[in-house]
Amino acid sequence: MLIGSHVSFDKEEQLVKSVKEAISYGSTTFMFYTGAPQNTNRSKIKDEKTKEAIRLMQDNNIDIDKVIVHAPYIINLANLANLDFGVRFLKEELERSEQLGIKYIVLHPGSHVGVGIEEGIKNIILGLNTTLKNYQGDIKILLETMAGKGTEIGSKLEELKQIIDGVDQKEKIGVCLDTCHLNDSGYDVDDIDNLLIEVDNIIGLDKVYCIHLNDSKNDKSSHKDRHENFGFGRIGFDTLIKYVYHPKLEHIPKILETPYIDKTYPPYRYEIKMIQGKKFLSDLIEKIRKKEEI
Ligand code: FE
Ligand code: FE
Ligand code: ZN
Repeated sequence: MLIGSHVSFDKEEQLVKSVKEAISYGSTTFMFYTGAPQNTNRSKIKDEKTKEAIRLMQDNNIDIDKVIVHAPYIINLANLANLDFGVRFLKEELERSEQLGIKYIVLHPGSHVGVGIEEGIKNIILGLNTTLKNYQGDIKILLETMAGKGTEIGSKLEELKQIIDGVDQKEKIGVCLDTCHLNDSGYDVDDIDNLLIEVDNIIGLDKVYCIHLNDSKNDKSSHKDRHENFGFGRIGFDTLIKYVYHPKLEHIPKILETPYIDKTYPPYRYEIKMIQGKKFLSDLIEKIRKKEEI
């Protein structure tokens, strides 16, 4: 089972810290930002730290080919005023990821901030084509399904498909399904078989390289994007667990982006254990607070 969470990337220890954190949760994969998600301060990649991290992954059965980078939120390719900056930063993210040996970068398609979805999609396509022009590496940029908060693009599978269709180097583009976002944007995530057929028909299931496994604080079609702990939200345990064990999704890394308890305690070790046990534990949050074993 390929399961993990988002973890931090330390300025000094870099990927070594991320791997150690992932291991401490019992993860078999993980996702990280190469710095703070909300800013663009990034430190230079240190090759000796990367080597150490790769050894640590090998010793702990973590396949680096399934590890994910998440691009910072401030990249907004849908907005022309931000396009140059976004392209520059995304290019640097490709270089950093390459240096770290990572194969996938998750990207929020962007928010059109008033120009409309069609114009926004055009801008995203321009941004991706400019970023990938002359790009020779083998990293894929994964467009994430969005909740449709504000003017977000990508809350419909058709919008992601339209973007992919406009990109010259199509083989460099994939998709990341976020269960909270799909629910909030209006998809019936409980009917997984039907949803996967829809994904397959519109985009192609072979384009899905990452799943964000989040519960939602809000109802279907709320367009809110507020994550809840696994099984404790409106999606619920029985639905989310289907994404973990569905045979069609077996090879895809699944990442928890669920909130810390009391903004203090990471829930991931507990959530992963509960997922492995395939049984909902209604007292999980209390156990995390008390640091009680499960
Ligand atoms: Fe995201
Ligand atoms: Fe996500
Ligand atoms: Zn989200």
